[in-house]
Amino acid sequence: MLDRRDFLKAAGATVVGSTITTVGSAPASAAIAAEPPQTAFLDNNPRWVVRPFPLHRVSIMDGTVFAEKRNRVLNYAAAYPVDRILHNFRVTAGLATPPGSSPPGGWDDATGNLRGHFSGHLLTMLAQAYASTGSTLYQTKVNQVVAELARCQQALAASGQYSHPGFLAAYPETQFIRLESFATYPTIWAPYYTCHKIMRGLLDAYLLVGNTQALDVVTRMGDWVHSRLSVLPRATLNRMWAIYIAGENGAMNEVMADLYALTGQQRYLTTAVCFDNRQSLFGACLENRDTLTRLHANTHVPQFLGYLRVFDQNGLAEYRTVADNFWRMVVPHRMYAHGGTSGTWPAAPNLAANTNPELFQPRGNIAGSIGANGAETCTTYNLLRVARNLFFHTMDPTYMEYYERGLVNHILGSRRDADSTSSPNVTYFFPLALGSVRSFGNTGTCCGGTGLENHTKYQETVYLRAPDHSALYVNLYIGSVLQWIEKGVTVTQTTDFPRAQESTLSFAGDATFDLHLRIPQWAVGFRYWINGVEQTGPRTPGTYLRISRQWRSGDTVRVAFPFRTRTESTLDRADVQSLRHGPLVLGAISTATTLRNFSLYANMKLDGRLALPSAGATNQFTSNGLRLRPVYLGDTQAHHLYVRRNEPTIVFGTRSSGVPNRQGFLDAVWAQAPFADHPAFLAHVQQVCTTWRGRGLLSQTEQTAVLNAARAAEPDLRP
Ligand SMILES: [Zn+2]
Repeated sequence: MLDRRDFLKAAGATVVGSTITTVGSAPASAAIAAEPPQTAFLDNNPRWVVRPFPLHRVSIMDGTVFAEKRNRVLNYAAAYPVDRILHNFRVTAGLATPPGSSPPGGWDDATGNLRGHFSGHLLTMLAQAYASTGSTLYQTKVNQVVAELARCQQALAASGQYSHPGFLAAYPETQFIRLESFATYPTIWAPYYTCHKIMRGLLDAYLLVGNTQALDVVTRMGDWVHSRLSVLPRATLNRMWAIYIAGENGAMNEVMADLYALTGQQRYLTTAVCFDNRQSLFGACLENRDTLTRLHANTHVPQFLGYLRVFDQNGLAEYRTVADNFWRMVVPHRMYAHGGTSGTWPAAPNLAANTNPELFQPRGNIAGSIGANGAETCTTYNLLRVARNLFFHTMDPTYMEYYERGLVNHILGSRRDADSTSSPNVTYFFPLALGSVRSFGNTGTCCGGTGLENHTKYQETVYLRAPDHSALYVNLYIGSVLQWIEKGVTVTQTTDFPRAQESTLSFAGDATFDLHLRIPQWAVGFRYWINGVEQTGPRTPGTYLRISRQWRSGDTVRVAFPFRTRTESTLDRADVQSLRHGPLVLGAISTATTLRNFSLYANMKLDGRLALPSAGATNQFTSNGLRLRPVYLGDTQAHHLYVRRNEPTIVFGTRSSGVPNRQGFLDAVWAQAPFADHPAFLAHVQQVCTTWRGRGLLSQTEQTAVLNAARAAEPDLRP
């Protein structure tokens, strides 16, 4: 057994900075001396069949694209003034603000109806920054914010103006009261949404940093929420939560269920179910009736995270059923290539136009809703949370397929590759529009807030474990170090994924456990080696590979997962396709505003691989006169995430037959790939020719030209 104190001694000072080093060093999160409450909290969930590790036990390796994005947000977190987080709270509580103090800004300005929300996100970011680095800089900030929020809560209580002494907000109680008489936006603006951010921030301060005062403050807030909602009739609650924007409440049911789990006080669970959105969506999802179209996406996604948390506590099956059913209405039926959802669409027969990009598009409408903006980043943040929680219950690898897609495309690409201590530099929408440009910034918006969280918790789902510590699940190939203290094992994963197509796991410490390696759906050709010896046997994409073994210090497992370049058709238009490279979505760089025509069959190889010419940089290619780049590159070049597949002529490699590609001739040829060899390929081309001739789609002369081109292309087709 590796003594835990050795970890702690080995942990050096943590340096915060965006300096990019080579892959191989990890920040010393093990500097956190005592186990924070999150450790016991995650272990206290009998319904989870797999469990995450506490955030501080996993460190992202410097030199990876994940660390680059994270370090930029850590710089922002390090520079962010505590007084600014507190400003609006102090003003509301009648406490003095220091000279020069100002509100966070954006929607969290001096007078806005959403003030306080960004401060909640900032508190979560600081707590996650501490868990990720062990740096006392963040710990001190968290403790300062919590102490002052407690003082604000006390001052509000002492004023005698509020319905219950637990009230804490950055504005008076008015908005909550008005919601109960069904005030609409913009008279009020989502009071419980803001309340959720503040409660989540406080819970994270307790769980990740161990600040017990935060638990005290958030518990009192929970008492206040209970006092307001527990006296309202169900019909009133139903109507409140169905009000557009005004009734948006984030994942209030999640934080109330968490409070119940932490305290055992029934009133918090009673309050959690007060947030059931019974009028708008709960019942429909229970019956698996898809009523999502035109509902505000990010209002509803987090509610399902809360329903899962309620299920964790009360075990009532309907709370899990609604989440399962809701999920399948969004993924894949409303999911864009990068993992985002919601968009705009033009009017069509039997379909009125929609210009609000935050609304769920009609089921199956993907190519049809590539309008202006769309794919709000905070919605993907919440979809990732729902996906991971569904995986905790089911171990169904499809949830991890989604998680990886959303993480390495939408989320990684939502952070600009430039430092700023004055802006989160993250996206609101991650538009699918043709020739669209990402707009980075978002101080004080919903996506600005969740953006601060996204990039400071990349490690949260890399590894999971069996409840009894008998198995380890490697879900994501992200360079990282796991301190598995219960087993006395340190797992070091060295990789620059997704800029690398292999990863090496090395183990320090002796222990027996099952290692489950995720083989992503895209990882055709996955290979692995134990201590340098290649292993054979089934390696099925879309499953987990189990290796049972007595692990010894120094053991290594190397995995290789070649990125295949391929296309992915939209559900509604087979010719509108995204370009994929392994897990990545490639954007075609172009300022044009109409679909770009792409011919790709000339690049097909006998093994079914699309071999595009390299553009001279990692994961970048040139095709059809345009540069293709992974969307994790966070800059403002105009790009197209969808292109129109256009194959006018039957071609093989550099050989053109000159014959029109009628009725998907080439689709029929390549549907049979991979081919064992060139003769097998020719035989199949001959077969398709015969079929097409039989249907009157090919003349004798054309068939000869096609077969001649297929024959002559032999060198081009070699894998
Ligand atoms: Zn948002």
